[in-house]
Amino acid sequence: MYGTFSMANHKIIGIRDSGAGSYVLRMERCNLNFEPGQYIIAGLPHGIHRREYSVYSSSSDDFLEILIKEIDGGNVSSELRRLSAGDRVNIEGAFGYFRISVDDLSAPFLFIATGTGISPFHSFTRFYPDLDYRLIHGIRYIEERYDYADYDEDKIVSCVSREEGGSYHGRVTGWLEENSIPGDCMVYLCGNSGMVEEVYRILASRGFSADRIHAELYF
Ligand SMILES: Cc1cc2nc3c(=O)[nH]c(=O)nc-3n(C[C@H](O)[C@H](O)[C@H](O)COP(=O)(O)OP(=O)(O)OC[C@H]3O[C@@H](n4cnc5c(N)ncnc54)[C@H](O)[C@@H]3O)c2cc1C
Repeated sequence: MYGTFSMANHKIIGIRDSGAGSYVLRMERCNLNFEPGQYIIAGLPHGIHRREYSVYSSSSDDFLEILIKEIDGGNVSSELRRLSAGDRVNIEGAFGYFRISVDDLSAPFLFIATGTGISPFHSFTRFYPDLDYRLIHGIRYIEERYDYADYDEDKIVSCVSREEGGSYHGRVTGWLEENSIPGDCMVYLCGNSGMVEEVYRILASRGFSADRIHAELYF
């Protein structure tokens, strides 16, 4: 259960492209314990570099998945992309406090993500299918709508900043400025630090209580 962690070399089952240079790495679970929302640390076995990745799959799945954006010149995101089924990835984990308390499960949730920051929300919504949530996803291009079929269509809002065709044209902060947020909801933010800081500022200006806001910063 939560609180235990391990390190092991997990065999890759498959890698699938998710669009916009991102991919999902599916590996054997190897008894890794994690709670939805937590992250692992990954790298090549005997590799020099290691990075954090939120778990994309559900704690109820018998495999382990992470969603990774390949960064130009990025060490680990490029190294892992070159692997194939049968290769191994060194995984340590799980870590982090970006979790949903059982006491809050019946609350309304507002999830706000940028890019691959959608990953912990994928894990949450798969593990807690009855969750009352709205997921606001900030992306640049339509092709970054990672696995939208896995969410309730009426619960996910794509905020697409660089082309037309999403649910909202602009950034998540623009969407937030134009929409009211119920005072009793729990807000979870995941992605780049600029978005997280800006959302905090917007919510604070409305008197929204900071202790209802949880954040996971990627970079
Ligand atoms: C708790 C936590 C969870 C994370 N979960 C994920 C995840 O689920 N999926 C994921 O793709 N990444 C995730 N990250 C980011 C990840 O750990 C790496 O930083 C990222 O993969 C780049 O590593 P790299 O070795 O390829 O690039 P590096 O060689 O470390 O550096 C490349 C540069 O890219 C910047 N960068 C990092 N991430 C991004 C990004 N998404 N878009 C644009 N620039 C970026 C860095 O600031 C750095 O300047 C997470 C980070 C943290 C702290």
